[in-house]
Amino acid sequence: MGISSMGSEGEVTKAGAQTDRTVAMARALGITASLGARFACLFADHEHDAYLHPARGGRWQYRCPAAPRSYGLAEVLANLAYGRAKTRSRVELARCHERLRYLAGLLLPRPTPELPASLSPTARRVGEGFRLLAGLRDEQWGDDPFTFAREFVMAYCDVTNEQARRGVEGLERAGLMIGAGWNGRARLWRRGWSEVRG
Ligand SMILES: [Zn+2]
Repeated sequence: MGISSMGSEGEVTKAGAQTDRTVAMARALGITASLGARFACLFADHEHDAYLHPARGGRWQYRCPAAPRSYGLAEVLANLAYGRAKTRSRVELARCHERLRYLAGLLLPRPTPELPASLSPTARRVGEGFRLLAGLRDEQWGDDPFTFAREFVMAYCDVTNEQARRGVEGLERAGLMIGAGWNGRARLWRRGWSEVRG
């Protein structure tokens, strides 16, 4: 019995909704086992079982026996996309969390314009990622510039280093990404379109 089941009906419903969201996000990662049950670890060449366990705040975390600590579900998505575990910045994790919620059907991107037909296949691929990122990004940030760093592009758009470089160049040339200065060594960007009201 969880504490929530002793609280008001509203609290029970809230806990239930949290569980539903966790199940949806786990499914999006490819985990079909029920919450808490063991499944084959998702990380490449890991030949053992992993499991999800509840953590602080009612969120569930991923436990791989080879990892030094449990991972949040967005972090699992990041580790799978990058092909390795690494500590990610809060900003990066926020983007991965939005993407996971999108994959789980819990978050819809705001409408963004179609990409121009003139883009190269590489620029198109990176452009689709950039569009999704901009469309999913929390509205609270408005038109604040954001980073779209090479390694992140490679993971988010599933492209090589060279494709990421050429893709970003193509999008900048097409006016879809607009340079907005630097944050340390990271280039900052704005989307090159105004928000489409849907
Ligand atoms: Zn593992």
